[in-house]
Amino acid sequence: MGVEFSMENIRRCLCLECPVQKRSRCVADKKKIMLLITQQDLDSAMRMDTDRVPGVYCSTGRAICRDIDPHEVCLCSECEVWDEHGLGEGRVTDYFCIREE
Ligand code: SF4
Ligand code: SF4
Repeated sequence: MGVEFSMENIRRCLCLECPVQKRSRCVADKKKIMLLITQQDLDSAMRMDTDRVPGVYCSTGRAICRDIDPHEVCLCSECEVWDEHGLGEGRVTDYFCIREE
C-alpha cells in the first residue's frame, strides 16, 4: 500500500528530527517555510507541495536536498507511518530520502 502525502503523515513523519538531515542548510530553509505555512492555515495540505516538505520520503521519493548526511541513523523504523504501512517488509525499508524505490 502506497503512503499518502497528507498533512497527517507530514505531522507524524520523523524526518524533520532525523540526524541525517540535522545539519542540512537546505532542509532548515524548507522547515522555515513549512512553519510559516502551518502558522497561516493548519489545513493547508494543498500548499504543502512535495518539494517544500523535507520529509515523508516513503511517499514522495528521494530528497531534493543534497547536503544530507547518509552516515547518520535513519529514524523510519520508529515512525507510526512506517509501522502502519508495513514499510519494513518492502524492498527498501529505510533511508527513503536517499535510496531509489
Ligand atoms: S527517510 Fe529516514 S534517513 Fe531519511 S530523513 Fe527520514 S528518517 Fe531520516
Ligand atoms: S517512514 Fe520515514 S519517511 Fe516515511 S513518514 Fe516515517 S519517518 Fe518519514
